[in-house]
Amino acid sequence: MTAETSVATLWEQALESLRSEIDEESFTAWLEPVQPRCFDGGKLTLAVPSEFSRNWLISNYHERIAQCFSDKAATPVAIEYQIVAMDEGAPEPAAPSPPAAAPHPLTSSADAVQRGVPTTFTPLNPQNTFESFVVGESNRFAHAAAQAVADPQSSAYNPLFLYGGVGLGKTHLMHAIGAQMRAYGDHFNVLYISSEAFMNAFIEGIKRKELMQFRNCFRTVDLLLLDDVQFFAGAERSQTEFFHTFNALFDAGKKIVISSDDQPKELTELDERLRSRFEAGLIVDIQPPELETRVAILQCKAQDLNFQLSSEVAIYVAERIKTNIRKLEGALKKLKAYTEINGAAITIDAVRDLLGPLFTGEEPLKISIEKIQLVVCKFFDVSLHDLTGPNRSRKFTAPRQIACYLAREMTDDSYPEIARKFGGRDHTSILHAFRKVQQDIADDLNKQNLIKYLTKLIKEEPLNPH
Ligand code: ADP
Ligand code: MG
Repeated sequence: MTAETSVATLWEQALESLRSEIDEESFTAWLEPVQPRCFDGGKLTLAVPSEFSRNWLISNYHERIAQCFSDKAATPVAIEYQIVAMDEGAPEPAAPSPPAAAPHPLTSSADAVQRGVPTTFTPLNPQNTFESFVVGESNRFAHAAAQAVADPQSSAYNPLFLYGGVGLGKTHLMHAIGAQMRAYGDHFNVLYISSEAFMNAFIEGIKRKELMQFRNCFRTVDLLLLDDVQFFAGAERSQTEFFHTFNALFDAGKKIVISSDDQPKELTELDERLRSRFEAGLIVDIQPPELETRVAILQCKAQDLNFQLSSEVAIYVAERIKTNIRKLEGALKKLKAYTEINGAAITIDAVRDLLGPLFTGEEPLKISIEKIQLVVCKFFDVSLHDLTGPNRSRKFTAPRQIACYLAREMTDDSYPEIARKFGGRDHTSILHAFRKVQQDIADDLNKQNLIKYLTKLIKEEPLNPH
């Protein structure tokens, strides 16, 4: 048996198994045209007629093809898809040519990760599941809605429109919906695609005169996950095409989930018809997570990475990176690498040096009364209890007045709020303390220097008391 006949035979056998798993129409459209080229050293090369069909195969059938073939070959198999003009039998140039490299609204997008996505369907990231998604107040509703959509019995919330800033978990939730639907069975045809990739595939379809094929593949899905719809801005033909896809799926009772960086009514560069379709569904936003959720996310991800992260460091980082979870992940990876290289737990000072650049662009940390109290207590060597308590000994009243003064100067808190945090005394006593220190500073250069020094210490104090 020659190598060719054996790969052909194995492929035939694999196809037979696949035939029983995939509906006939899809089988004829996607698998029949595939030709096995060679199978060598565990690598199977399959010739496919177009980039489009390669993408479709990778996105929808890759795992099953690999599984069936490796069952027949009784060895693990890696697959390479080679685009071949079938009638000529010659491979196309290797690099998939991105359509029209002309400036495009896409390139101005802040979502650099999406920009890097080639003109293909992106497979679902197996790490983006509901289990790995940390729920907090900021994303609770979005998470619940996503779970409801992922229930194949339910037809609630169609379409679901998720929106929120970069790195807040929209793509993660979409992948989680897709993965959950797929887990119910192979008969659920799930397609995840960014609007950018949709556009590219559409342009490719026009170029290759495969529009019918393009339409069919979108209109035969049970769940369409369209990510980052804002990238459609300015791409009118793609929008119109998507509008028809949307309607066809919607009318057939199929599920649609859309994500965007803003709510439909703000997407003024999108076709009004499309926006009103989105508005007819459930619109849910994802807000930046609050501190506790950020800490929990860091701790979960650290656990996944098998990395011991102290809660002191987790809080320190989460306090400073507030608006983007991807950035939090980046920080965590840096910390892990640092710890591995140095072989010792990282100190707060080292964290500050290491991650400082990541903290820029974030809002400066708000100074809390608690932090002021912490620094003043340390400096004068008094306890918090004495600082905030009723003891009128000079040893305590001087630091107390200074702390009250600094609380008023360095925070936005009102006198009553400060009074509450200084043992619940009357707020006029805070006003009195403030005026007293103000006067002292005016009269006494030493006092002035002391206040300056304490202000600096407070600003530099890395930890916020909790
Ligand atoms: P978006 O699509 O909104 O820009 P992503 O879904 O790509 O954001 O999320 C960025 C990163 O943060 C991903 O690695 C994702 O897994 C992670 N992430 C976002 N939200 C959560 C969450 N609530 N729990 C765990 N990881 C999250
Ligand atoms: Mg995204």
